[in-house]
Amino acid sequence: DLLVVGSANADLVIGVEQRPAAGETVLGSDLAVHPGGKGANQAVAAARLGARTALLARVGDDAHGRLLLDSQRDAGVDTAGVLVGGAPTGVALITVDPSGDNSIVVSLGANARLAPEDVRAAAGLLGASRVVSTQLEIPLESVVEVAKVVRDLPEGTTRLVLNPSPPQPLPEEVLAACDPLIVNEHEARVIAGDDLGDSPEDWARALLALGPRSVVVTLGAEGALVASAEGSVRVPAVKVEAVDTTGAGDAFTAALAWKLGQGESPADAAAYAARVGAVAVTRAGAQASFPTAEEVAAL
Ligand code: ADP
Repeated sequence: DLLVVGSANADLVIGVEQRPAAGETVLGSDLAVHPGGKGANQAVAAARLGARTALLARVGDDAHGRLLLDSQRDAGVDTAGVLVGGAPTGVALITVDPSGDNSIVVSLGANARLAPEDVRAAAGLLGASRVVSTQLEIPLESVVEVAKVVRDLPEGTTRLVLNPSPPQPLPEEVLAACDPLIVNEHEARVIAGDDLGDSPEDWARALLALGPRSVVVTLGAEGALVASAEGSVRVPAVKVEAVDTTGAGDAFTAALAWKLGQGESPADAAAYAARVGAVAVTRAGAQASFPTAEEVAAL
């Protein structure tokens, strides 16, 4: 039902009293290694909800790659589309201090080698999925290729959902294929420019003028906004005690993409996604925080 095309990283996390300055060495906690990357996170989030989910990604032929494959399989994701080799698995080196401030170095590794040819070779998989969800932690040319493959399918075959993170200006052919484009305020500003207007409704209008069929703006504890040419609706957030917002956007996007593929209206799909995001922020970690459908229902 859902195909995620995106990144897979190992997050290497060390707690420190103070993050090191240039030339400095500090001692930290034991190393924690977590599966991450927006693509891998979205696939796990959707599968845990019960979505039939596949992942198209690239990892290295190394221990981090096997960790990522294991976490995908444990969640029930179909990993037949995960390509192995070409570079080490992507990693994020994260130091985090007691106040929660962090410094992060990302090595894209194999993610940077998920090439347009890899996407083209998986065109059958894209065409067999109701929804394809992608992000920008893989080469932009590969996202362009995803948009082209989806565009060239018969109308109504496959829907493209894009969370443009980390944000960069997008080519028209990508924007035109998005239904929806899912952004937070920062991403909206990078894509549509700084003179967006004041309200999320204004931001959505500015984004819609760039060509996507629909736009969803995520607003953290304020919920989300769903917008298309027909108008916009606010989706309130569920009130929860937030512990760790890591991965909430990925959980939201995955849930929204899956529900849209199930034929739900954008407003209903976003309301469900907001519940999924709300559970995710009540728990630590990214993939570890993603709920099952039962847990969402119990919220
Ligand atoms: P991003 O990480 O992409 O900026 P958000 O932080 O907006 O995404 O989170 C995505 C969604 O998760 C929000 O639209 C909202 O529905 C839910 N969410 C995030 N933070 C909270 C919170 N503190 N309380 C309740 N829901 C939240």
